[in-house]
Amino acid sequence: MNITESKFYRDKCFINGEWVGADSGETISVNNPATLKEIGTVPKCGTNETKRAIEAANAAWPEWRAKSARQRSDILRKWFDLMIENKEELAQMMTVEQGKPINESRGEIGYGASFVEWFSEEAKRVYGDTIPDPMTDRRIVVLKQPVGVVASITPWNFPNAMITRKCAPALAVGCPVVIKPASQTPFSALALAVLAEEAGFPKGILNVITGKASEIGDELATNPIVRKLSFTGSTEIGKILLEKCSGTVKKVSMELGGHAPFIVFDDANIDDAVAGAMQSKFRNTGQTCVCANRVYVQEKVYDEFCQKFVEAVSKVKVGDGLDEAVASGPLIDEHSLSKVEEHVQDAVQMGAKVAIGGSRHELGMNFYQPTILTDVTPQAKITSEETFGPVAPVYKFKDEKEVIELANNSPYGLASYFYSRDIGRIWRVAEALEYGMVGVNTGLTSKAEAPFGGIKESGLGREGSKYGIDDFIEIKYVNMCGLDK
Ligand code: NAP
Repeated sequence: MNITESKFYRDKCFINGEWVGADSGETISVNNPATLKEIGTVPKCGTNETKRAIEAANAAWPEWRAKSARQRSDILRKWFDLMIENKEELAQMMTVEQGKPINESRGEIGYGASFVEWFSEEAKRVYGDTIPDPMTDRRIVVLKQPVGVVASITPWNFPNAMITRKCAPALAVGCPVVIKPASQTPFSALALAVLAEEAGFPKGILNVITGKASEIGDELATNPIVRKLSFTGSTEIGKILLEKCSGTVKKVSMELGGHAPFIVFDDANIDDAVAGAMQSKFRNTGQTCVCANRVYVQEKVYDEFCQKFVEAVSKVKVGDGLDEAVASGPLIDEHSLSKVEEHVQDAVQMGAKVAIGGSRHELGMNFYQPTILTDVTPQAKITSEETFGPVAPVYKFKDEKEVIELANNSPYGLASYFYSRDIGRIWRVAEALEYGMVGVNTGLTSKAEAPFGGIKESGLGREGSKYGIDDFIEIKYVNMCGLDK
């Protein structure tokens, strides 16, 4: 697919309803990770263009917040409809710039759109409160109002859904947004802007700016007009942004890295557990924040699980995601590939065995073999660092108490999973895991209806569900007095 021929292809940023280049005229080259060929360019913007986008959003804000919830809901609904109508073309574009198998891209467009649909409905339900006052002639009324200009910085692994999960609730409650997508996957973000324009968002309400991450990020994090910064990406950059946001005391949401434990108890249905591990670990070639990073298997079922897991992995076809039969695409770049390679080599040096895979794929470029390591030791880097690749380290454990301690021994607290058929154990373990999300007998938990987010160094705030609105509103109370006069 030549994405420059797509009606959604834009090589310009979207600021104040106009398609514009960088002031300097400079551009960034974007490559297909499956072929390493250039697929297009986007503007290399910096501080000045970011300032203009923020100011445009702020100028457009009064008109947007003054609309009724129903009017905002209708525009969001139109945006959702357009995404669904154009699902196939958007999915193809995503696979070409991000590399994930085409079926996963179709899934992501549906998933991303589901947040727009969900928040188009929630827009109508931003209820306040009436609170009894201690004095008889008074009442307290609680109003929920839009926070103001929202900045959103997103990663390359979910180029569509990480944007809609933030922007749909912001737009629904009446906030304008300035989006800075990842430089490796800007075209899916710009395609969303094309559809937003068609859906009827007023100019300045949704802006997309591409370019120098640190310059754009600094301006978004320090400009006093921006009242909320919502970031998805690495914990390392999240911490830098948190510090920068403190200068203007902005509201922040941080969806950061994870290191998910995936636990298989000896009473589990092993076939289901293998299917769940495949989904959790190998989706998006292991490049998701909720990927299983440590697979703990109870000793009685360890051999059976490993044998079936290896069998399942041996059937995974690796290649260009546009091929319908491919289930594992390339890694995003050489840097990611080197990290995966380093983690595997280090684990093997520390005593792990390679059950399948274990090296770069014969296709070359950014491809790595889907890999299972068994008998992994706690000292290996892979036990504590996010690998972000198609490698499943498997560990043996004895009992529930031991595995809960192992699972919680991480600075991260995003997703976790376990398989068991014992109702008592299910409650005990679900409550004991120090993670924002717990999948029981499933390897996939994300949906618009649920509050996605992490604890500890995995972040702050929740996206999706009825709670996803809270991150974009300010609570104000009005004390009405003198009512008996
Ligand atoms: P990243 O390097 O932190 O980049 C994320 C975004 O931040 C990109 O748009 C990037 O721009 C931008 N950025 C980089 N340096 C910046 C700076 N100094 N100031 C402001 N912005 C800056 O993360 P990534 O490698 O793209 O994504 C992988 C990470 O995201 C993993 O750790 C993963 O676990 C996490 N993640 C978390 C969630 C979640 O919901 N918790 C979801 C998905 C991914 P450029 O692309 O231009 O560098």
